[in-house]
Amino acid sequence: MTMAKASVRDADIAGKRVLLRVDYNVPIEDGKVKDDSRIRASIPTIRYLLEHNASIVLMSHLGRPNGKVVESARLRPVAERLSRLMGRSVPVTGDALGIGTNDAIGRLKPGQMLLLENLRFHAAEEANDPSFAQALAAYGEVYVDDAFGAAHRAHASTVGVAALLPAYAGLLMEREIRSLSKLLESPAHPFAAVIGGAKVSGKIAVIENLMSTVDTFCIGGGMANTFLVASGYTVGKSLLEKDRVDDARRILQSAKEHGTDLLLPTDVVVAKEVTRGAEHKTVNVNKIPNSWSVVDLGPQTRVAYEAALESARTVFWNGPLGVFEVPTFGDGTRAMARHLARRAGAGATVVVGGGDSVAAVEELGLTQAFSHISTGGGASLEFLEGQELPGIAVLQDRPAPVRTRKQPSRAAGKRAAAAP
Ligand code: ADP
Ligand code: MG
Repeated sequence: MTMAKASVRDADIAGKRVLLRVDYNVPIEDGKVKDDSRIRASIPTIRYLLEHNASIVLMSHLGRPNGKVVESARLRPVAERLSRLMGRSVPVTGDALGIGTNDAIGRLKPGQMLLLENLRFHAAEEANDPSFAQALAAYGEVYVDDAFGAAHRAHASTVGVAALLPAYAGLLMEREIRSLSKLLESPAHPFAAVIGGAKVSGKIAVIENLMSTVDTFCIGGGMANTFLVASGYTVGKSLLEKDRVDDARRILQSAKEHGTDLLLPTDVVVAKEVTRGAEHKTVNVNKIPNSWSVVDLGPQTRVAYEAALESARTVFWNGPLGVFEVPTFGDGTRAMARHLARRAGAGATVVVGGGDSVAAVEELGLTQAFSHISTGGGASLEFLEGQELPGIAVLQDRPAPVRTRKQPSRAAGKRAAAAP
């Protein structure tokens, strides 16, 4: 059981300065934010704080500047987009540290906010350096973490500060924990997991951890190739992890022992090259040509997977089912997105997690259709692997509800009597 974490709704924030860690690690192109979904996802917590008369010091990382100031990793484009979304100007400091930043924070009034410059311009952030954490903690009286996507990293702004201030989950963090814990602890059955993506190596731990709860796995993407080889097929020039064939074989065996259905493609789209415009055709999995690559599910597999998901009351989807970046090889992924959107519309709980799978859903404009779209790529996978994420572990536990009894129970009386 994951312990429930105290959320910003449990915190006393009126008139306080709140240090809010957000995940604004968004794609930037030509000085503009290309995808603002992570910025949008932080707005409910920001609004909540402002409405409750707090002032906010926002902080985030962007990219991998590795402890140096990198002009292209400045947060100005993010602040501009946030300002537009909030309908008010959100200033960004020139540096996360320094006198200017201190002064600006000192001048913040309730209902106002600012954004610190990219935390990763300081190597101390990723090193979880105690003095850097202390400098950040001094900016606020309460710490709120809404950066689920960074919760698997023990950095100064995720773990260091949380130990120095009263630390609460933001509304997004709370939603992520609730949705993903539900999958692990009490999913409505039948529970199906659609797992795709490039490599089986990154997904083994998730599949193993879900094995005892999931009723049906539908496997696709590049990782299906390793399973096909484990089942005795050849996959031509396809992406294959030879050193993972044994792991795949072990998972197939484990599925048998658990009585879990593990579905593999029966037909696939193969291409001469994994590029746009390349010659391609659909073949049965026992007829994959030597010099061709598997790039997508075939139509027969798509139909079989959709049928298997038809009765599911809970679905988790991670990983595209083909090389969807090439539109011709994206049919399997797009069909799955549409099918799962329909399932969600029919009342199933459908959760999507993973950077590329989420991108595929967004491309189709289907984000609203799903029960939950996780904003964490690596973080959601680690969560579903059953790992404790350091950024979550460090947040305060929700206080247990106070029980009042009319009379002390006998058991309690016995314990009290036995106490020295
Ligand atoms: P996510 O980010 O959703 O967790 P991954 O990062 O594991 O997903 O995998 C995404 C990548 O998998 C995509 O870039 C996609 O092109 C690739 N992929 C999917 N199917 C195949 C395939 N058959 N061969 C090679 N790569 C594939
Ligand atoms: Mg990815």
